[in-house]
Amino acid sequence: AIHIANRVTRIKPSPSSTASDRANALKRAGKAIVNLVVGEPDFDTPAVIRQAASAAIERGETRYTQNNGTPALRTAIAEKFLRENRLTVNADDVIVTNGAKSAIFNAFAATLETGDEVLIPAPYWVSYPDMVLACDGRPVIVTCSEQDGFKLTPESLRAAITSRCRWLLINSPSNPSGASYTRAELRALADVLLDYPHLAIMTDDIYEHIRYDDAPNVHLLEVEPRLADRTLIVNGVSKTYAMTGWRIGYATGPKTLIAAMGTLQSQSTSNASSVSQAAALAALNSGTEFITTSLEIYRQRRDDIAARLNAIPGLSCRVPEGAFYLYVNCGGLLGKTTAAGQRLTTDNEVVLWLLDSAGVAVVAGAAYGLSPYFRLSIATDLPALQHGAELIAAAVASLK
Ligand code: PLP
Repeated sequence: AIHIANRVTRIKPSPSSTASDRANALKRAGKAIVNLVVGEPDFDTPAVIRQAASAAIERGETRYTQNNGTPALRTAIAEKFLRENRLTVNADDVIVTNGAKSAIFNAFAATLETGDEVLIPAPYWVSYPDMVLACDGRPVIVTCSEQDGFKLTPESLRAAITSRCRWLLINSPSNPSGASYTRAELRALADVLLDYPHLAIMTDDIYEHIRYDDAPNVHLLEVEPRLADRTLIVNGVSKTYAMTGWRIGYATGPKTLIAAMGTLQSQSTSNASSVSQAAALAALNSGTEFITTSLEIYRQRRDDIAARLNAIPGLSCRVPEGAFYLYVNCGGLLGKTTAAGQRLTTDNEVVLWLLDSAGVAVVAGAAYGLSPYFRLSIATDLPALQHGAELIAAAVASLK
């Protein structure tokens, strides 16, 4: 048999794909399933973006581009940072990647030595720890409790930093909790970070435009520009413009790091798709209408479904400031017994029971490093979400 390397056997496939696969298998077997697992917008990519991609194909933009992305797209990204984040970025210091995911992976691959630590606040996006492990690093999980709004505090951050820490990850708004840092909270974290110059910071801003609190988006570097020489900003068009399948992400940061990521990319995937780059360019220059419209739809779903779930005895959920997920506390269901006589003891069991008995697919908090919770995606139309919430309410009512 072919040997599979340790760097692969120590990681696992994404738990959200596993949950989706299970729901789809039940669906194929004829069961009605409300799938609330999805981590992507349910909208189509806007027409102007699709048309820009078609036009690029017809113009013959179908060849390799510069490894780090077309000059036109990198310029548009630099303009975006100035326009939306009030950050001055040179287009030469931008790399366009195959989704934000490959920016994060290449950054770890370019910087981690065996055993180097990466601080990952929990609940976290499922891929962070596995990407660190795949790059021989050591994920160090920093628990961010619901009482703290699922956010790092200056104290929890300071207590977690060791001399082996290479990176701190900040994902705001967060997948799965939606938690988003305020300017004052970023200021307080920056004050701690200034004390530890060996620590680099990676901000994953992929949900920056899906934010409900009307506070202008604030970036750590706007609050504290002195962190610029050790901060990598990761972003992309996937969530903002409903472009998950186009696979365009980007990053900017210190020159040496961007160069190292470029070298890795040049010897692995090479440039991101030329056609998708043309689409991303159109997206970044498409104004704010799609963003505003989709945000209002998410907001309506968030308010409606959070209220319904909070009315179910045994469940509670903090109304998130951002992203398109609800992170639902199911601690009140633990210890209860199902109609089939099973005593529920973990969020994993709650999630399997919800799938089997209610036909509702969600992802267990265990996958995100903080239990007992489940993540419910609101990137589905409101009637389906309301139906799902009713099914959950009925199932919970049947518990003893
Ligand atoms: N970062 C977070 C927090 C995400 O939730 C996701 C997608 O689920 C990504 C990054 C990946 O984005 P992309 O599709 O651009 O690779």
